Amino acid sequence: MGEKYLSDYYKRHHPFDQGRTIALEERILINLDDAGAYKLQGYIDRLTETKDGFYEIHDYKTNSRLPLAEYIQSDRQLALYMIGVKKQYPDVKHVHLIWHFLKFDKEIDSTRTDDELEKLKTDTITLIETIEQDESFKASPSLLCDWCEFKPVCRQWKHLYKVSEKPANEYLKDSGVVLVNRFAEVKNKQKLLNNECDAELEKLEGALLAFAEKEKVDCVFGSKNKVKITESERYCFPSKNSKDRERLEEVLRKYGKLEDVSQLDTTALGEIIHEKQWEPKVLEALEKFVELEKKKRLYLSKMKEK
Ligand code: SF4
Repeated sequence: MGEKYLSDYYKRHHPFDQGRTIALEERILINLDDAGAYKLQGYIDRLTETKDGFYEIHDYKTNSRLPLAEYIQSDRQLALYMIGVKKQYPDVKHVHLIWHFLKFDKEIDSTRTDDELEKLKTDTITLIETIEQDESFKASPSLLCDWCEFKPVCRQWKHLYKVSEKPANEYLKDSGVVLVNRFAEVKNKQKLLNNECDAELEKLEGALLAFAEKEKVDCVFGSKNKVKITESERYCFPSKNSKDRERLEEVLRKYGKLEDVSQLDTTALGEIIHEKQWEPKVLEALEKFVELEKKKRLYLSKMKEK
């Protein structure tokens, strides 16, 4: 893939006279406020100046998906670099932000107005303050963990680090390893049994329905149990978020009946409260009805080979 990315890039840009490279992997400092209380730093992959005196911030991406235009428009990274470049290079007239999506041999460029940069500064300061006010920092594992320097002490990974240091015979004696191995064994056994039972139950259901039909009965008796066969009807409606669903809601609203059949969506409400999406006064009014219940669950998954 690397070879293809490079040769595609070479063919597209040869003889490389689109601009003059000013810096590579350039460290850039970004002041978000005049007092210098909020600072960020970043590294620009490549900074160029065109013949017209425009600056270009280039970022090379190896994403396997081409991000949508809205993503590019709202992406913070290069816009923050733009703030730093404008400060670091006072002769700058205009800055272009250019993302090179190497897998697709495609470039997307954008820019930001001064107003947008000011808004980005205040939004980023608000985000920093929100993070600083937080009291619980739950680990949020993702692909980025492989680049995280906290990994050996992170609750998500430290057991792996602890046991990886042990020789193979000691490793297998670790209580955590023993428990997980047994847990996986029993879970897999349960899955196997469930699958077998499901398959047999499906066959038995078919056979019982055929028997009841043939004998013209609604109840079939065994030695200690009986199976009752019932038939029910259910109305089916357009699925959520579909156009027809919207039309159905419109009709109900028109006749003033929507309230009669709509229910409080507590899952959605929980998410809103958790993410503090509503104004504080609304959240405070809801507080007395909400109780935070903590429950621990175990999820079994396969580890990557390495
Ligand atoms: S290793 Fe832990 S702290 Fe680091 S990114 Fe992953 S979950 Fe977050």
